[in-house]
Amino acid sequence: MGRIEEERKDMVVLLREKGITDTSVLDAMAKVERHLFVLEPFLNRAYEDTALPIAKTQTISQPYTVAFMTQELKVGYDSKVLEVGTGSGYQAAILAEMGCRVFTIERHMDLHLQARKLLERLGYRVATRCGDGTVGWSESAPYDGIIVTAAAPEVPDALVQQLADGGRLVIPVGDLDVQSLRIITREGQQFHVREDRGFKFVPLIGKKGWGN
Ligand code: SAH
Repeated sequence: MGRIEEERKDMVVLLREKGITDTSVLDAMAKVERHLFVLEPFLNRAYEDTALPIAKTQTISQPYTVAFMTQELKVGYDSKVLEVGTGSGYQAAILAEMGCRVFTIERHMDLHLQARKLLERLGYRVATRCGDGTVGWSESAPYDGIIVTAAAPEVPDALVQQLADGGRLVIPVGDLDVQSLRIITREGQQFHVREDRGFKFVPLIGKKGWGN
């Protein structure tokens, strides 16, 4: 086994130690090559459990955060999932590796183009779009899972409306310094809300985000 493969295996061991139990999530994280999604200067840190800078002052999320949020989404083979905040494309790749039908939106054109190219090259069937994800992607709704990977000041109503019955929305909500993860489950016209632990994300910018 090469050094990179060794490091990726160690990352998964660490995720397990930190409390990630969903084997489909752990298996996907063991497969997707995170080093392909980070910038050249950070190659040797690709499997540290830390967020790293990508273009446009954005970040690729910490592996633990990706694993935790994905586990909370409770999606699997053939689930239809919307991601807001494509960034590097890593989270989308994890979901695709799990067999989800992924739709992902990024507001920065160059991040969108770069992620689209990489996901295509890796053979992941992910639909990508450049635009404001706070309004969702209504043409492909409803979704079994919606994951927002940037910090929102409030839960955008459009996203809640695009949830399928039984679907779950996982979104960090709070101020610009610290957010807690909110998990919203739809049951018919009822919405069950749970607040989980604190995280730190880059801001969600947009109509129902922090303004442009
Ligand atoms: N999921 C990404 C994490 C990227 S960080 C990954 O795995 O790498 C969050 C991303 O959300 C940034 O790229 C940022 O540009 C994007 N973003 C912020 N507001 C957005 C909005 N309203 N719509 C779409 N993308 C947005």
